[in-house]
Amino acid sequence: GRTGEVLLKVEGLSKAFGGLLAVNGVSFELRRGEILGLIGPNGAGKSTTFNLITGVLAPTGGRVFFKGQDVTGLPPEAVHRLGLARTFQHPHLFPELTVLENAALGAFARARAGVFPVLLGLHQKEEEALLSTALQALRRVGLEELALEKAGRLTAGQQRLLEIARALAASPELLLLDEPAAGLRAGEKRELARLLRRLSQEGVTLLLVEHDMDLVMGLVDRVVVMHYGEKLAEGSPREVQKDPRVREAYLGE
Ligand code: ADP
Ligand code: MG
Repeated sequence: GRTGEVLLKVEGLSKAFGGLLAVNGVSFELRRGEILGLIGPNGAGKSTTFNLITGVLAPTGGRVFFKGQDVTGLPPEAVHRLGLARTFQHPHLFPELTVLENAALGAFARARAGVFPVLLGLHQKEEEALLSTALQALRRVGLEELALEKAGRLTAGQQRLLEIARALAASPELLLLDEPAAGLRAGEKRELARLLRRLSQEGVTLLLVEHDMDLVMGLVDRVVVMHYGEKLAEGSPREVQKDPRVREAYLGE
């Protein structure tokens, strides 16, 4: 259903880099089960908004609530442990590790980060559980056959999928995706859209930054449009596409 509780609430969020207001008083909500698109021209402040939500950056002003809890200023590991995972605009993978090991890092981070240092090592049972979770995540994105390849040998499209698998290995309730279709071929984009729809049906709430308008508009329930750090518009894909201010923002790009 599309009428779940408010899962994420962003209130008057701001971030200044020196004199530049990269994010300027942005507010929106995301309900459990929804797919929300966050769009806007290059430099609008979308990735910065992701970094503020996930604790990578501390906001200059405003608050972030996840599952009703004020998570403003919490470190990324703490936000992640609450069930909020993300992928990056430029994949953050370990090219020398296997696909399976990269995915397992997602499960590991959710289970143990901040509790025991990695150096203590894992018991065999724990390691098996992590690898099994990781393998399941690889299966969900269709990468299980490449589990023992080095991540650096994957195509750009496969690396994007691996980023998603690593995020899924943490069993997130909310998944933030930053331009997941960038660099993908048309067929891979269709696969990605199918995957995201399936994840949504399985109960993962999605917040998606994406430039491919066909992909976004065919996938999301609602869209928030940013421009020069501010929220310019919000509504259904149809409403937003009709909005003259939105058209103007994109024409000026
Ligand atoms: P988008 O993801 O919408 O393309 P960004 O959030 O990456 O936009 O960037 C918004 C603005 O903030 C841009 O003008 C960008 O140059 C600037 N910016 C982003 N990160 C930093 C940073 N770490 N330091 C200084 N300026 C930044
Ligand atoms: Mg960006």
